[in-house]
Amino acid sequence: MSDTKLVIGNWKMNGSWAKLCEFADAALRDRPACEAALCVPFPLLAAAQSALQATPLRWGAQDCSAHAAGAHTGEVSAGMICEFGARYVIVGHSERRAAHGETDGQIAEKVQRVRAAGMTPIVCIGETAAERDGNQTPAVLRSQLLQLLRTLGRDLVRVIVAYEPVWAIGRGDAATPGLVDDTHGFIAETLAIHAGLPAHSVRVLYGGSVNARNAAALLSRPLVAGVLVGAASLQAAEFVDICRAAARCADVEPCVSP
Ligand code: PEP
Repeated sequence: MSDTKLVIGNWKMNGSWAKLCEFADAALRDRPACEAALCVPFPLLAAAQSALQATPLRWGAQDCSAHAAGAHTGEVSAGMICEFGARYVIVGHSERRAAHGETDGQIAEKVQRVRAAGMTPIVCIGETAAERDGNQTPAVLRSQLLQLLRTLGRDLVRVIVAYEPVWAIGRGDAATPGLVDDTHGFIAETLAIHAGLPAHSVRVLYGGSVNARNAAALLSRPLVAGVLVGAASLQAAEFVDICRAAARCADVEPCVSP
């Protein structure tokens, strides 16, 4: 696995051409020394390609169809996303699981579509507050991971997993580094037991209320390969600060906060 930390912004249903230009300017000024990308709404993919291609930032989408093509009104295929130079597609975000009833099986199909189109899926897993309170976290994560393993086998190494506890998303309060250590440890152990995959062979990001203040503490954890950032990825200055923290945390353990 690469030692470079990865910072992925999830713009959700936000953004504009003007905002992409702001990010392009900021990235050209600061040249983040980490891998970083913005996952934008579908209509902004062409704008992202045009605004970001000369910058160190890459871009991607937030979902795709489980189908390759055909009579699926309103859907967007992985192949179409790839035509705009996208590198990543987020799949199985908790907002899609909750609002659109996406199942682990459908998510695994989408992951395969993204892989077949030559892009990298970022698959979100994580427990709800009720599941956490019912001590269900290990069972929920295990079942989400096993579905991916059944579909992909050891090809899972070509996928990025994002651990996003649903209760930490959009709350301003991230999981503590201690809990992140424990959970990422559990994910590594599950992948080792069920697929013989060594720790670090699959990149596992943390997501949930990451911001410029807590990024270094989370990114410095050895099993955290990067962060998936929602609200804090909408301000160019804050996103660049998170990228700076990621650059400082690569190869450094523990990371020294700013
Ligand atoms: C997300 O939606 O993936 C996310 C992590 O959001 P936020 O950073 O706003 O909690």
